Amino acid sequence: MEDKKIKLSKGKTAIIIVCLSLAAIILLSTIIGPHVILAAVRQPEVAKEYNYSEYFLNTYDEVRENLCARVQKLRDSGATVETESYAVDEDDDLYIDNIYLPSKKERTNLIVLTTGVHGMEGYIGSTMLDVFFEEIYPELDTENTGILVVANVNPYGMKYYRRYNENNVDLNRNFIIDWESFDLSSNKEYPKVKNFLQPEGKIGNALWHEAGFYLSLAKEALTVGADTVSDALLTGQYEYPEGVYYGGNGDEKSTTYLKSVFEDTLSGEYENIIHVDIHSGYGPRYNMVIFNSVYDKMTEKETAKAFGYDNIIAYDSESFYATTGDTTDFYYRLRDAKKSDKELFSTCFEFGTIGDEFFDTILSLKYTIDENRQNKYPSDSKITSEIVKENYMELYYPTETEWREKTVEDFVAAMNGVLKTKLK
Ligand SMILES: [Zn+2]
Repeated sequence: MEDKKIKLSKGKTAIIIVCLSLAAIILLSTIIGPHVILAAVRQPEVAKEYNYSEYFLNTYDEVRENLCARVQKLRDSGATVETESYAVDEDDDLYIDNIYLPSKKERTNLIVLTTGVHGMEGYIGSTMLDVFFEEIYPELDTENTGILVVANVNPYGMKYYRRYNENNVDLNRNFIIDWESFDLSSNKEYPKVKNFLQPEGKIGNALWHEAGFYLSLAKEALTVGADTVSDALLTGQYEYPEGVYYGGNGDEKSTTYLKSVFEDTLSGEYENIIHVDIHSGYGPRYNMVIFNSVYDKMTEKETAKAFGYDNIIAYDSESFYATTGDTTDFYYRLRDAKKSDKELFSTCFEFGTIGDEFFDTILSLKYTIDENRQNKYPSDSKITSEIVKENYMELYYPTETEWREKTVEDFVAAMNGVLKTKLK
């Protein structure tokens, strides 16, 4: 047989190489690249069994069912439990659940626990309520100590896996004493980086999107400074309703409700109020930080010593940052405005997730911006939507076993420290 060799001209070879390269680029950017990114960001599968695994829940309905079961369990054990559900949106079955266990005799101490002020963070909050009732409650002197739980303060955010509520409002920037005198343009940094924090249009191809984010971050950091970008965010903003960390322009429904609960406690019978608001997403990974209000006058060192707990942010800490409109500052300000003589300790338990190193902070920022953008302009790409969702989950509710077990350990240690110091 004659060996037929097809000889191509140099021109044709070049065209084929170009075509193959283009095909490879298209394949890489549209199919392989996004899949590789998704595989890289996907959270690990949740282990079947670990400490408290049955209390790490995944839907708002599960959280409410679990709360009902908890109330039943407490009643079965002989406790008096009063419950109330406040409707944020009846049609969408969105409720704030209020559970009160009065002290049996003297009204000395009232422990107030709030969860889900930032919707997504209500999942770890829900777990910690179980941990509280399993590990802490049995040791309490219920003769003189009452317990008040306000669970799922932002039920919309819990149901739809968002930090914000039904009006895109960040409730932990919405607790303002007097809106009339409040300066809505108090955040001077946000407008400078608004375009970076609120990009317009849908997120397109995942691969180009990743590259584009870092390029625009580099540009912003160079023009306005990296500190401006993070300051613009954390303090909250009141001018851009579609933006991130938007604090609203008046009391949200959930806020009105929680404010009235706080007021009731300040004019109520208990003389000593200890409030813990449970959050996640800020601080070092595998560490829960007790983040005190600026109105608490104990220093970081004093607090750590008193509580026997190392991870403290107090008003004098280097990493302390002031926020506007958060629940803990509000509680103190309300007490002073009402001239209440109650003793009050109101603090925030913050579970670190991504971490607090330089690059972790950038990632947290990215996930925050992407999720808000995806919420306003849902992407056409299923894989892009998945990536955004996985990242957001990692930002507030990691699946990793080691992380989850450590949250339980830290919560118990911190709660014991606080109560040992603050209970009478
Ligand atoms: Zn939070």
